[in-house]
This record gives sequence, structure tokens and C-alpha cells, in this order.
Amino acid sequence: MKLSTGIVRRVDELGRIVIPKEMRKSLNIDQKDPIEISIEGSSIILQKYENRCVFCGAIKPSIQYNGKLMCTKCLKEINKNLSK
Ligand SMILES: [Zn+2]
Repeated sequence: MKLSTGIVRRVDELGRIVIPKEMRKSLNIDQKDPIEISIEGSSIILQKYENRCVFCGAIKPSIQYNGKLMCTKCLKEINKNLSK
């Protein structure tokens, strides 16, 4: 979902842009929070970086395997499907 805000900010000499306070507040972005930067077409996407399950996207997955994270729910699902 794209929501145009009409907010225009200028990039400073170090390439920095200030994310408006209201936006940070509504998305729960705090000081020192990691932000993941990605590109989609000609857009730059900033997302709060959170460890997520690679399968369902659940936040704070508890199982790590080969550098990938997954939640216990997905692990159970996989086990169930494998034992069929
Ligand atoms: Zn999962």
C-alpha cells in the first residue's frame, strides 16, 4: 500500500534524510533502530529491520537453520508434511 504524504525532504551533504517524527511514531521506529534499505524500481524502501520467519514472516522466530530463521509453527508444519 502506497500512501502519499506530500512531505518533501532534502538530502543533506552526507546523503541523510530525516524521517518525519509522526511517521517514526506511527511505525514505532525508535532511535538506533535498524532500518533495512531496499530498492523497488525507482523507489527506495525503508523498513524496520526485524528477524522474521522465512516462511510465514512471523516476528522473532526461534529456530535458526543454515543461517535462516523459522518459527516453531512452520517447523511443525514441515515435519507434518514430511512424515506423510
Ligand atoms: Zn513461520
